Amino acid sequence: MTAVAGVARAALTRAARAGDMAPIARPVRVATAARFVRVATVARLVRVATVARLVRVATVAAAAVLLASCAANGGSGGTADGPGGDTTGATPGGTATTAAPRSDATTRPPDGPPGAVPRRGEVKEIQATGSLPPVISSIPTKRKVVFLTIDDGWEQDPGFVQQVRDRRIPITAFAMRDAVEAKGPPDPAGGPGQFVGAGKWGYFRSLRDAHVPIENHTLTHPNLRLLGYDAQRREICGSSTIIRRQLGTRPTLFRPPFGNYNTDTLRAAKDCGLKSVLLWTATVQPGGKIAYQVPDKRLRPGDILLLHFRPNLARDFRVLVDKIKRRGFELGNLQAYLDATTTAR
Ligand SMILES: [Zn+2]
Repeated sequence: MTAVAGVARAALTRAARAGDMAPIARPVRVATAARFVRVATVARLVRVATVARLVRVATVAAAAVLLASCAANGGSGGTADGPGGDTTGATPGGTATTAAPRSDATTRPPDGPPGAVPRRGEVKEIQATGSLPPVISSIPTKRKVVFLTIDDGWEQDPGFVQQVRDRRIPITAFAMRDAVEAKGPPDPAGGPGQFVGAGKWGYFRSLRDAHVPIENHTLTHPNLRLLGYDAQRREICGSSTIIRRQLGTRPTLFRPPFGNYNTDTLRAAKDCGLKSVLLWTATVQPGGKIAYQVPDKRLRPGDILLLHFRPNLARDFRVLVDKIKRRGFELGNLQAYLDATTTAR
């Protein structure tokens, strides 16, 4: 150990002489010296020396600068996960034979939000309609990445939460109060449920704890086109209020029931503090079958898929996720991608 440190120190001193610098005085210079050491193939011996740690700090700092634009304008909590998460992923501990390679920049820490995050410049800007929130059906990217969203909340199978948590699957949930609280008859399309309303808001707290953003899908699931502005506003603001009260989080996305909306919906969504109205490009049927809303009937980069909290969701979900991966698509972190569509502006 001391011999190793001695080699490092000797190399550093040589580097210091050659480079005309004060040894150990400034971290940046020490890092430069250590890079010299690495070139001389000594670096893998200096794991225990503080020099190696400084190299890592310098490398991570450079990576953070590169990634800063992805996360800088996030604002709301929990989405600016790029640089912070990457730094922990870049310290393998134990066997650090070289400085962190670039590929470590995409390594996720085990406890951060799951899902692929956009690369710099990957995502195009999404145009807002005047001052109203933009209506988004898909994310403008060429990368093979798709996004999973799940609506309503009738069926509350704890196995599904466990699956999302254990497999680190990125999803976004749009909670509808009457479904979550099991008021009225559940969605007949779901068939007889085993866990209808079983966990109420506690179920959504578990999802929240598994890094699932809980977003706004109204109180009672009306066709908003049939309602005036005031009634729409009551449905939308009421949903945000109850989510905030029950979960302590503030929704930023709104999904109109049935995908039906008009200008009053956009005004109400804006007045209730929501940033985007989110639609979808394909729905997922029982059995994990994808029903496309586009003529070419295949997954496309940036697609947003819509599922429902239905019986057998855990099983169907497994089929779906495996299918998506077999087709060479990643699952994206929707919030990080949406942030990128606005920072592109
Ligand atoms: Zn719905």
